[in-house]
Amino acid sequence: MTVFLCSKYDTAITPELAELAAIPDVFDDERDRDKKTRRAPSTVPRGHYVIDPEPWGPPYVMQHDQDDPKPAQSRGPLVCREEGFVISAGSRQTVLLHPDDAAGLQPLPNWENSNGCCGPTGDEGLNRACPCGAPVATLAADCFGPCELHLDPVRTYALSQ
Ligand SMILES: [Zn+2]
Ligand SMILES: [Zn+2]
Repeated sequence: MTVFLCSKYDTAITPELAELAAIPDVFDDERDRDKKTRRAPSTVPRGHYVIDPEPWGPPYVMQHDQDDPKPAQSRGPLVCREEGFVISAGSRQTVLLHPDDAAGLQPLPNWENSNGCCGPTGDEGLNRACPCGAPVATLAADCFGPCELHLDPVRTYALSQ
């Protein structure tokens, strides 16, 4: 079992979690979304985590093939900025978990990087902070795209038993 801690003051931000063997596939079916929050079911079930080998978060760079763009980050939607479709060139190895397994995290002041329609899209950068104030994670929880929390691999660390 593994607990994840904030790198700043070594405080636990998750309960004990078990590692999944692989990232669960996402089936984005409108009927599975919560009627009120419009969130999809979390990619990762409660009590588990999995390391995401795909790039996540900023910097976002221009995609080479603008006629056949890919999602900006794993499992998410296409993101078109002023200059064109972008793709993440951010950290690999973010820790993917159920948002409710890090329930103590809070939005950043002024909801920084939390833009979205019904919730944060999660494609602007870190948007959730440890109670100590350090930004440590990105929540994606909008009415399109996946619902999941990514812990930053530098601002948090794992302690396994
Ligand atoms: Zn919406
Ligand atoms: Zn902290």
